Amino acid sequence: MIRVLLLGGTAEAGDLARALDAWPGYHLITSLAGRTTRPGEHHGELRSGGFGGVDGLASYLREQAIDVLIDATHPFAAQISRHAAETAARTGIPHLRLLRPAWTKRPGDRWIDAIDCADAAAKLPGLASRVFLTTGHRDLDAFAPLDHIWFLIRTIEPVAGPRPRLCCRLTARGPFAEADELTLFQEYSIDAVVTKASGGEATYAKIAAARRLGLPVIMIQRPPPSPGPIVQTTDDALTWLRQVRA
Ligand code: NAP
Repeated sequence: MIRVLLLGGTAEAGDLARALDAWPGYHLITSLAGRTTRPGEHHGELRSGGFGGVDGLASYLREQAIDVLIDATHPFAAQISRHAAETAARTGIPHLRLLRPAWTKRPGDRWIDAIDCADAAAKLPGLASRVFLTTGHRDLDAFAPLDHIWFLIRTIEPVAGPRPRLCCRLTARGPFAEADELTLFQEYSIDAVVTKASGGEATYAKIAAARRLGLPVIMIQRPPPSPGPIVQTTDDALTWLRQVRA
């Protein structure tokens, strides 16, 4: 039995877990950070909560006799990916990052790059007055001081903590459809979008809708990937896994 620890919290991790669950000879444990109250459907064994840094992850791998570590966390989950790479280097356990491809710019896209949320917030005054904001419920502090801009904030979990004074909050989980995003933008007279450069299909509809309406999109750039081998698709991750076993 090959014991696989899958660091999840993404659609890709879910897809990989579904595929692996059907493979004989593998035991899968999916690990979630425990940030969402309703993580949704899962396959294989599930654990939740931080490990306690690199030392904690190394202990967990040893205790659970893990043979392979696959990091399929979100492109912006930089800390856990760094910990996974460091732990794999320290323990010698084969390690792979499944990192979904970034979105690519198409004709008509009006993207403005930002290095982080603070940079995105600094770019808004003078650009927009009604902003669709999808940076996540824990990344809103930077926008809180923008007193004269109205925000439509869509998150998976309800927003707690600092947020802009003028705002409307929506909770929803993708995938989203382009027609619905168009309707939303028009209904709320949105004149700019702020998003992380997350990539993936589930949340691409807002990018397509912004293009259709000619809206600027402030695109917060991804953190640099942690060291180690990277694949972009679930199929490539499964191929890698077969080779590890061989
Ligand atoms: P992060 O900043 O890289 O991680 C912070 C800490 O949370 C890690 O050091 C680790 O704690 C714990 N952690 C994170 N992911 C974990 C996992 N899959 N299993 C066990 N512990 C985990 O991560 P984040 O940006 O807060 O994201 C948390 C989770 O949400 C990730 O699993 C990610 O896939 C998912 N997610 C993130 C975003 C995003 O925009 N960042 C978007 C969608 C989904 P210890 O050091 O104690 O081990």
